[in-house]
Amino acid sequence: MGSNTRVSKADYYEVLGVSRDCSDQELKSAYRKLALKYHPDRNPGDHAAEEKFKEASEAYQVLCDADKRAAYDRFGHAGLGAQGFSGSPFAGGVDLGDIFGDLFGEMFSAGGGTSRGSRVQRGDDLRFDLTVDFEAAVFGTEKEVKIRRLETCTACGGRGSASGRGPAVCSHCQGRGQLRYQQGFFSVARTCVACGGTGSVISDPCAACRGEGRKTAEVKLNVKVPPGVEEGTRIRYGGEGDVGRVGGPKGDLYVILSIRPHDFFERHGADLHCVLPISFPQAAMGAEFEIPGIDGPVSIKIPEGTQSGKELRVRGRGVPHLNERGKGDLIVKVVVEIPRKLNRAQRELVAKLAESMTVENKPASPGLMEKMKDLFS
Ligand SMILES: [Zn+2]
Ligand SMILES: [Zn+2]
Repeated sequence: MGSNTRVSKADYYEVLGVSRDCSDQELKSAYRKLALKYHPDRNPGDHAAEEKFKEASEAYQVLCDADKRAAYDRFGHAGLGAQGFSGSPFAGGVDLGDIFGDLFGEMFSAGGGTSRGSRVQRGDDLRFDLTVDFEAAVFGTEKEVKIRRLETCTACGGRGSASGRGPAVCSHCQGRGQLRYQQGFFSVARTCVACGGTGSVISDPCAACRGEGRKTAEVKLNVKVPPGVEEGTRIRYGGEGDVGRVGGPKGDLYVILSIRPHDFFERHGADLHCVLPISFPQAAMGAEFEIPGIDGPVSIKIPEGTQSGKELRVRGRGVPHLNERGKGDLIVKVVVEIPRKLNRAQRELVAKLAESMTVENKPASPGLMEKMKDLFS
């Protein structure tokens, strides 16, 4: 093979530019420098650089192995004989994995972005933002939405080729998606540029999709919103995203919900909150109300002597739990409203009421009142 066809061989130490008594470390760093400089990925089409790269690799391969280096030192190229070097590059058992792993890992991963095993490309996941009314989130709903996504091209049936033959095996890489270069004693894999690593090529691309096998289209989809969804709830529709290139599998669609606010209710999880304004007499004497709940009328009993800010809990009249049985609660906050204006007759009545009020009738925390009196006296 390659190394045997050359007429005369350069001295391995000269090739690497090191002295005969150099250390392993010096050897390694000298080789790294040359390998980076002459690597075929950095010198595409430069045959001279490729030769230098092969030469350096071969020299390093020998000199980094103590036994081979000893043989080479004593007998030169002849000392290495035919053993190992015209056959398998790895027959000598030298593992180049570590040096090449860190040396070239970056170069290869930077090229093309197509890695081994990713020949079938899945379509993208899509996101659709859907805003629903407050009630719709509570009770659930069905909505027809229009989404734009990549669909299988109807002109070519997703095969990407005008003739319908579909992609052919890439002749450049025989469908492997990558090419192996023999470089001295080892081989290096590179992504095939002819097919971009997919392993197949389309010689007569479909005019409608330019060989992609897919086209943007608007589709209608029925979105089912279950009862009890919250702001930001994500509903996944498997396989409703973009179709992949040339028959690749479909991505998913995620519907992200947002909920319009309600005039009267506020949601805290599965609980509904609302405010009920009542008058002072109602708060003092107690009252019964019927208020419009989200799911029908709700009877509210205000007990005698209810304080402003008191929360009354009505069990099971809130929002259904998502994907679970049962409902949250309705929490009614009572706010006692003080009349902004009184007419004369009302004023007299309130005055009378004030006069008639004993210590027990006075507002809560009489202790606080006593303290304040002390403070201002
Ligand atoms: Zn097409
Ligand atoms: Zn190829």
